[in-house]
Amino acid sequence: MELYCDKELGAIYQSNKTIFRTFAPDKNNIKLRLFKDALSLEFTEYRMIKDLNGIFEVEINGDLDEYYYTYIVENEYEVTDPYSIASSINSNRSCILDLSKTNPEGFLQHKEPPIINPTDSIIYEVHVKDFTSHPTSNITNKASLIGMVEENTQYNGYKTGIDHLVELGITHVHLMPIYDYLTVREEREFAFDDDNYNWGYDPELYNVVEGSLVLYPDEPKKRILEFKKAIMGFHEKGIKVVMDVVYNHTFRGKVSNFNVLATNYYYRQWPDGTFSNGSGCGNEFDTQKPMARKFIIDSLKYWVKEFRVDGFRFDLMALIDIDTIEMAVKELREIKPDILIYGEPWMADNTPLPSNKTTSKGTQSKMSFALFNDNFRNAVKGDNDGYYLGFAQGNLDEIRNVETGIAGSIFYDTARIGFTQKARETINYVNSHDNLILQDKILKVFPNKTEAEIKNYNKFIHSILFLSQGIPFIHAGNEFLRSKNGNHNSYNAPLKINAIDWSLKEKNIDVYNYIKELIEFRKANEAFRLDDDDEIREKLKFFKHVENCPTIAYTIKSKDGFLLVIHNANRTSCLLTYQNIKNHIAECYLEKFKDMTVGILFDENGIVRGNINSNHPHGVQTKAISTYVYKVNVIE
Ligand code: CA
Repeated sequence: MELYCDKELGAIYQSNKTIFRTFAPDKNNIKLRLFKDALSLEFTEYRMIKDLNGIFEVEINGDLDEYYYTYIVENEYEVTDPYSIASSINSNRSCILDLSKTNPEGFLQHKEPPIINPTDSIIYEVHVKDFTSHPTSNITNKASLIGMVEENTQYNGYKTGIDHLVELGITHVHLMPIYDYLTVREEREFAFDDDNYNWGYDPELYNVVEGSLVLYPDEPKKRILEFKKAIMGFHEKGIKVVMDVVYNHTFRGKVSNFNVLATNYYYRQWPDGTFSNGSGCGNEFDTQKPMARKFIIDSLKYWVKEFRVDGFRFDLMALIDIDTIEMAVKELREIKPDILIYGEPWMADNTPLPSNKTTSKGTQSKMSFALFNDNFRNAVKGDNDGYYLGFAQGNLDEIRNVETGIAGSIFYDTARIGFTQKARETINYVNSHDNLILQDKILKVFPNKTEAEIKNYNKFIHSILFLSQGIPFIHAGNEFLRSKNGNHNSYNAPLKINAIDWSLKEKNIDVYNYIKELIEFRKANEAFRLDDDDEIREKLKFFKHVENCPTIAYTIKSKDGFLLVIHNANRTSCLLTYQNIKNHIAECYLEKFKDMTVGILFDENGIVRGNINSNHPHGVQTKAISTYVYKVNVIE
């Protein structure tokens, strides 16, 4: 029988005593080493008592708020507590805290943004340092979580920082790792050093706020307080907060705190005993082990209950077994019904985890969480880092794959087979932090196009993204053509590559305004935010044929008529005749009707305001490499 214990683990603080519990089933001797502060070399040691489930425990009387501790294993190794909620700088010692003293004023009472449907979400992924560090951000508290919510910042009159996010209209900010990771020095004096940047996919203490992203890394209470302030700041602006979580591996393997305490327990192994490497980072967390599963679920619940975060993005989610994910989703929804859960349905290398247990495409349907949709991503804009072109750059072989994505990647018909049951199960995106950012991909495949043409491809690609069924996701700066100078893996590149240059917003304000209007248009039209597969099949109908113009055209039945969307990837304009539209409506929705009217709602410049009359006497015309949306009203 596998050992399991549902007791609370870690340092459980009360004002008159603290209970310490840690899981170390194969060990005989664990001592608690207690320090009065972060640096002193003096300590007191206490022998811990082991129970039948492999849990070592000791109870120490007195108020230990802000005392520090480590565990001494078999009189030989000293490690931090995997369940630490706070630590000294650079993760050296665990810290005991009275969490009730970590709430900024108003935090416990503050209102969260209202509950929304998953398909109403618009996700903006960003690294704290990227967002806040560049001089053009004009953010005072650079490279910090507090800087993320600094108001009234601008560059040359253009909003930056959180004001920019409010203006853009996103609903969720997805913060790249903000839990403790190891490869960045946390002292403030190194905050902007070229060799001291990392995305943070190198986890150490999963329940500790990363010290390099706060103003006071050596003050454990302030670390927590700063993140809570940031969350409250976002909530007050109507923005929900998603945390990026990396439970698939730990940065350190054999010498990690997990492995020193419970040797070989937390890591998957091949039959010869070597650690498997499905993460590509040297090890993978064995999420099927009861105490490993408990750790993940405890950690997720801690962030939601204590910090009130609104969602999680799972790194290499395929490596987290589906049973663990389903249990986590269920428990998290009990705390927060609209919590947004999504992840990467892939792994980096081979795993011993049986394929029927990986969290891969299709497995999300039972619990309706979401997965990053690489099929749609590649069909729209081509492969990640190479020269393969997508539909948007004129590769018409990808039409069906793009249509599958437009329909929320449901099983739409036998020519368009996706992996979802509901549109809420797909994260639609064209790039994340990984691989070439969209601007660099377009520049790579089209080195000789003019600046205006490059801008146009960016607009066209985003129009497909934001008008498709599912949950749209962009990476920070996509909205004004952020470039990383062709760096396709900037995980440890200096800030001169990674920091967002906000002057690009002014330079590319036309693209920015267009993307802002796409978001506004999506929000104004429920027809782009359907969820149920039957409803999508019933309401969304692709044109079988557009005369003389291979392209994507479809209608969606809306409250009071039809929306007609044309994505024209051709290098010439495309005319869809009134007769063609009439035939389509008769075939798909209404056999007989007297007449129809067609007006334009959206063109290559964004929302069409004022005169919305059609633009051609015989039909509707859509310019080359652009998306137009029309309103069709039928007179019965
Ligand atoms: Ca750290």
